[in-house]
Amino acid sequence: MTSQLTAYMTLFCTSGILNLYLCFYVYFKRHQYANIRYFFALNCLSIAIYCFAAAFGLTASNIQEIKFWTVVQYIGMPFSPPLGLLFIMHYLGMKITKRRVILFLTIPLISFIMVATNDFHHLHYKEFTVHPELGVPYSIIEIGAWYLVHGMYTFGCMFAAFLLVILRWKETAKMYRPQMLALAFGELMPMVTAFIYLIGATPPGFDPVPMVLWLTSILYLWAISTTRLFTVMPIAKDAIFNSISDGVLVLDEEHHLIEFNEASNRMFPQLRKTMVGLHFNEIWLEVTGGFNEFQLGNFGAERELKLEIELSENIYQVRTSILKHGNLKKGFLIILTEITELKRLQSKLEKHAYFDELTQIYNRRAFFQQCEHKLSQSKVTETPLTVILFDIDYFKKVNDTYGHLIGDQLLKHVAKVSEAQTQLEKGSLFARYGGEEFVVALEGRTAKEGVMVANQIRQAIESGHLIVDNLNLSITASFGVAESSKDKRETLTQLLNNADKALYGAKEEGRNCVLFYSEGKHLLL
Ligand code: GH3
Ligand code: MG
Ligand code: MG
Repeated sequence: MTSQLTAYMTLFCTSGILNLYLCFYVYFKRHQYANIRYFFALNCLSIAIYCFAAAFGLTASNIQEIKFWTVVQYIGMPFSPPLGLLFIMHYLGMKITKRRVILFLTIPLISFIMVATNDFHHLHYKEFTVHPELGVPYSIIEIGAWYLVHGMYTFGCMFAAFLLVILRWKETAKMYRPQMLALAFGELMPMVTAFIYLIGATPPGFDPVPMVLWLTSILYLWAISTTRLFTVMPIAKDAIFNSISDGVLVLDEEHHLIEFNEASNRMFPQLRKTMVGLHFNEIWLEVTGGFNEFQLGNFGAERELKLEIELSENIYQVRTSILKHGNLKKGFLIILTEITELKRLQSKLEKHAYFDELTQIYNRRAFFQQCEHKLSQSKVTETPLTVILFDIDYFKKVNDTYGHLIGDQLLKHVAKVSEAQTQLEKGSLFARYGGEEFVVALEGRTAKEGVMVANQIRQAIESGHLIVDNLNLSITASFGVAESSKDKRETLTQLLNNADKALYGAKEEGRNCVLFYSEGKHLLL
């Protein structure tokens, strides 16, 4: 054996041993390289087979032996570029499905079969003979049709991997760029070597690629060992995506579902992975059982949407936002937040703020808010507005005689009886004004009409009996009525003051009666 052959063999074996070592190294430390372990280890193994077979090929003493070791080389060599590509894809956080893996490895499998059966069809090598000048173990080949397919595929995979790394360059933080460079270089090197070999610029008679493959694997391993950037980030992003309590759905530009998180699955149990790829409107109809109000077409343009929906007793806030990459619209995000409890609290707070706890009718605040609006409307339309203020007669006595609880019951009773009367009046507003005082506002009614209404309420209170604790209680109330004046500057407080003056007059008059206010005086109608 010449010293040159020994040198080649040494280089081949070095590559083989190093790759075998890396294969086992990653395999035994697979918990550290969880994301890429299989593709990386398999890639190293395929390179190791390729290198060792190439080394053994150099010991061949006849063409049959050369051919045999070439077949062995093909157990590894054609699989390495697609495995390398899969490794890079996985490393960069791209999704890899089983189907994709099978698809990627189909051509290498065919290549292996082609080489193993080449003598029968000569599709891979048209000619495979001993090198006429150099002799065994050197050989020359004339490539066949399948060799072209195999070659293009091999280059394609390496080039795709190289491109993927380069495309990620911009998004990669400066501190991790050396690793990206190592990956790119690791892909570039066998590609360039194979190219030089194919144009005939390397020593003749054998394939020199295994000589450089040890460097490729070392660069890979260095890249993945020194940064967890790509191995950890996709996992972290997934974990974050799935741990948030808001339901998140990702759509593409044409509104097809791309991804959804676990929270959205909890909100809509009918949501399934098989729905990925379907149009969102179709999915929405199915998962919400025909709830059609929310149509993506509504926000498909540029604007963002925010609405509330109620589904199976839960209330969700739906926000949509447009996903942009630079100026390019890439898709949409739909974010669903469960706000059932918030809404319940909100309505409870509203109730507390505007309703009287004891009588469950409007309180003074609600009255002022609504009546002020009514008053300003009446000034604009120049129509009358009348208020009735009434106060229960001798209520202190009730409390003193029967106790506060009975007093409360009586207040509730009066509120109920009065409410029934005021409800007969269109556009009326009834509220507890304070203590045992109540107020009614009548839209479009004159003082005269107000007095009639007040008398109806008065009679209803007087004739209504409250039977509680074997007691039969009846009570009366006094009423003051006032109509808004023509003066546009008149305030609600002034109007209520007038009614209060009339009420005071009614008390003076002997109670259980209605008085109305008229220009400084209060009159009995
Ligand atoms: P008048 O005929 O002059 O109105 O006599 P009155 O006893 O009703 O006198 P006044 O209106 O001044 O008294 C109001 C009383 O109402 C005083 C207070 O103890 C009682 N009161 C006010 N709010 C409540 C309440 O929420 N529950 C009960 N039980 N009593 C209340
Ligand atoms: Mg009072
Ligand atoms: Mg009173």
